[in-house]
Amino acid sequence: DFLEIGTETRTMAILNQYRLFAKKGLGQNFLVDIDVLRRIVTTAEITEDDAVVEIGPGIGALTEQLAKNAGKVVAFEIDDNLLPVLYDTLHDYSNIKIINQDILKANLPKVIDEEFGEDKQVKVVANLPYYITTPIIMDLLRNDNRIDSIVVMMQKEVAERLTAKPSTKAYGSLSVIMQQQKDVEVAFLVNKESFIPSPKVDSAIIKITAKKQTGMQPFDLKKFQGFVRGCFMHRRKSLYNNLQGVLVNHLKLKKTSKSH
Ligand code: SAM
Repeated sequence: DFLEIGTETRTMAILNQYRLFAKKGLGQNFLVDIDVLRRIVTTAEITEDDAVVEIGPGIGALTEQLAKNAGKVVAFEIDDNLLPVLYDTLHDYSNIKIINQDILKANLPKVIDEEFGEDKQVKVVANLPYYITTPIIMDLLRNDNRIDSIVVMMQKEVAERLTAKPSTKAYGSLSVIMQQQKDVEVAFLVNKESFIPSPKVDSAIIKITAKKQTGMQPFDLKKFQGFVRGCFMHRRKSLYNNLQGVLVNHLKLKKTSKSH
């Protein structure tokens, strides 16, 4: 019989067969825990007519579990060396498309149009490469009009900042930017032993969904994110002092854009 990719035995066999070494620089930590993989799929509430976008399929452990439950899975992988591996490990699934691209450079709305049609909303599910967790999340928030929900694994510390409540130590610009726009919760924690190789930090799965109670309208998100970052720029300073910095920058920008 056939062992799932996300078992330790099968993952070790695949790594040996292809003489693969996890690339630290690309945040390669492969999940080897079927329970965790299944819980991710359950948390994302994947059903057979769902369109799923995955970031960083690696050797295909999560991709396989997603493909078993979803209508179609489109996965972005930056590492060329993993393409022949994925072709092999996911060979039995006809509902998977791998795109060999840097997710931060991809035109996600265009890919969604092409792969799923113009009306379909997608669910983003991933075990993220931790070195770019924040830029990926911020990108997804800025281009969220085709995204129904996001369920991703990240370092626990970032998950805590994204979900932090006011007056706590973890509360900062990330918390404000995220919670202004979305409902967000930590779904569950994952320990280091669930990966090969083990990462240095603990991990958490977070679930991001549309706000049930709509707050502010998303006016200009880029400016808003810049403004909030400015407010938290120097944490020892008062908000008043930080805002002076924000204002000075804003006026400078205005001046330069006028002189052109
Ligand atoms: N999904 C697999 C799993 O759960 O075992 C692998 C997850 S691993 C933490 C992160 C994956 O993201 C790696 O396969 C890595 O090559 C890929 N990756 C890193 N940077 C990327 C980028 N900029 N765009 C797309 N994929 C990237």
